[in-house]
Amino acid sequence: MKKKNLIERLDKGPVICAEGFLFEIEKRGYMSSGEFVPMVSLENPGALENLHRDFQYSGSDIVQAFTYNGHREKMRVIGKEELLEPLNRAALKIAKKVATSPLGKEQNLMAGNISNSNIWKQGDNKAQLEVEKMFREMVGWAVDEGADILIGETFYYAEEAYTALKIMKETGLPSVITIAPYGQNIMRDQVSILDTCKELEQRGGDVVGMNCHRGPNTMLPYLKEIRKALKCHVAGLPINYRTTEDNPTFFNLPDRNGCTCHTPHETTFPTALDPMQCNRYEIRQFAKEAFDIGINYLGVCCGANPMLIREVAEAVGLKVPSSKYRENMENHYMFGKNKRIPKHIKDYRNKA
Ligand SMILES: [Zn+2]
Repeated sequence: MKKKNLIERLDKGPVICAEGFLFEIEKRGYMSSGEFVPMVSLENPGALENLHRDFQYSGSDIVQAFTYNGHREKMRVIGKEELLEPLNRAALKIAKKVATSPLGKEQNLMAGNISNSNIWKQGDNKAQLEVEKMFREMVGWAVDEGADILIGETFYYAEEAYTALKIMKETGLPSVITIAPYGQNIMRDQVSILDTCKELEQRGGDVVGMNCHRGPNTMLPYLKEIRKALKCHVAGLPINYRTTEDNPTFFNLPDRNGCTCHTPHETTFPTALDPMQCNRYEIRQFAKEAFDIGINYLGVCCGANPMLIREVAEAVGLKVPSSKYRENMENHYMFGKNKRIPKHIKDYRNKA
């Protein structure tokens, strides 16, 4: 059976993509927070394969190679530039292995990944050329290792996103491009969120949208505008945190949940965001609302875990392997309605 490509899948219905591996692999103990380098593909490849398998089991159709931050600049920062190519190739090979051993009949799509370089500077030709080179080498390795699609994500400069798209498009592979504006609700080179997305569509983005930095509350209003203005497929992958109008991103999100032991650094980001997480129903509601207005490429970024990916998948009408284990309060020993649960246990519920 011929593998369906990304656009064929999106034309037919929802496509789920798990992201947010940085936070999840850090929580699993395989990465240093703050520094955030995905050495896991070299140092603990089994842990990375498990991460992909867990998301696959919960319905991710795309296996995105974990090369976020695995670019030349970051490797220079940590003094391990010589590991750049091995790291990228290892991550791509692991993703390919998982994508080509799917749980259902249809193979998953393996995605190569490039993202914000953090050295892009407006008006600085030298820095921009450097970024272009970084993108080109990573995209080259992704094509080599058999990527089905390319994802460029988390861009906060419009021009950097355009550059990423240009390089991805040179390969002829379907390209997903998503932006992640900061709290001023505009790209850092002063292009509006909507205009950036319109331009990305004009320049040939197959799927255009937003990922990361923003929770459902501060991403969905923009996604609605984007969906209205664009003809191509649109992507929405929020973080799993309750961002607000005052704090549209997770970078400056205050903890107003009675915290008694603050982080040793300035912000709750990235190590003390836990109390501001969305619950699964909020993520489910986001996915349903987004899908109902025609956004077919859906997922969760930072804060994602397999349970939330299952919520996204089920919200848009899919049944995934882990649906077998979705909540079943019916049989809870105290809150369940099952006939076998003793009355004296049930009746105590309000005092529990
Ligand atoms: Zn993220």
